[in-house]
Amino acid sequence: YAKHDPKANYYAFEQPMEDKRQRYHTLAEDLVSALANNQIRQVYQPVVCLKTRRIVLAEALLRWHHAQYGDISPLEVVTVAERAGLAEQLNAWVLTTASSQNMAWRKAGLPAIKTSVNISPAMYTRYDLAGMLTRTLAQTGLPADQLVLEITEDTTMQDIDSSPQILSQLRRLGVELALDDFGTGYSSLSHLKSMPFQKIKIDKSFIQACSSAPQRAHSVLRTIIHLGQSLGMQVVAEGIETRAQYEHLFAEGCQFGQGFWFHRPMSGDELAGLLHKHLQQDNVSYLSDKAAM
Ligand code: C2E
Ligand code: MG
Ligand code: MG
Ligand code: MG
Repeated sequence: YAKHDPKANYYAFEQPMEDKRQRYHTLAEDLVSALANNQIRQVYQPVVCLKTRRIVLAEALLRWHHAQYGDISPLEVVTVAERAGLAEQLNAWVLTTASSQNMAWRKAGLPAIKTSVNISPAMYTRYDLAGMLTRTLAQTGLPADQLVLEITEDTTMQDIDSSPQILSQLRRLGVELALDDFGTGYSSLSHLKSMPFQKIKIDKSFIQACSSAPQRAHSVLRTIIHLGQSLGMQVVAEGIETRAQYEHLFAEGCQFGQGFWFHRPMSGDELAGLLHKHLQQDNVSYLSDKAAM
């Protein structure tokens, strides 16, 4: 009765070793041309201020539709790039594309927002990230303080001893630093306070746990929010999918949020459309303020 056994299903989806190897080689071979030919694209997911719902930042996320394998998850793209020695190329593309898009929104006269990019683990430890940033900012003209680097807790823990120094060097360039997927890694409180982050992003697993084990999840969330705030960091909750989650986080004093409840990741043009609506709302509130005077 294999078909009634949920495990049978699971194993059916597991790929044999040979297929995995073939997939890796094909993707590694195609990655460079995919970057050059716009087969890899970037989408942008807004981060909003929970109080006003206004968009304050856009996180750049990778998308690769491969001719043979279909959609490849960004985590697989990063893994393939790092194994294939393409970490520098991939991160350079990510930084340049995201910064140029942000400049395009500005040049179109839209309200200024920040852009965040995810930095891959190898780029953080093994290559000259500071040099790459300096070049990208100079080439695109994006002001350093408008760019946020998202670095996961696990990435900073690869090299615990040099992390405070690596991060301080990045800070001196004027970019902001966000600790991504907070709560999923193993960093301790003592590490957190020695690292110069301006923002922490609470991992979506904590937000989603609120629906399944409400009481304990709520107290964990409250603790994380207060911890970030007591260290002077802005707290962003990721993965907000329901009104209840949003209202709960707002009530707990969380300042910023991201998730399908607000906006899904979208193209640069679609985000421009949303920013344009902000402009119109500003005009309306300006006119009504004037009328009220
Ligand atoms: P992340 O940086 O934590 O990004 C958040 C992920 O959560 C994104 O998945 C986003 O689409 C998803 N998400 C946002 N809101 C919701 C929600 O309400 N519910 C649910 N279920 N998911 C939500 P995505 O785009 O598949 O990216 C997955 C991970 O891949 C990212 O996690 C990041 O670690 C990595 N990644 C994506 N783009 C890049 C990139 O350009 N460079 C690097 N190094 N890593 C990237
Ligand atoms: Mg991120
Ligand atoms: Mg995250
Ligand atoms: Mg995450």
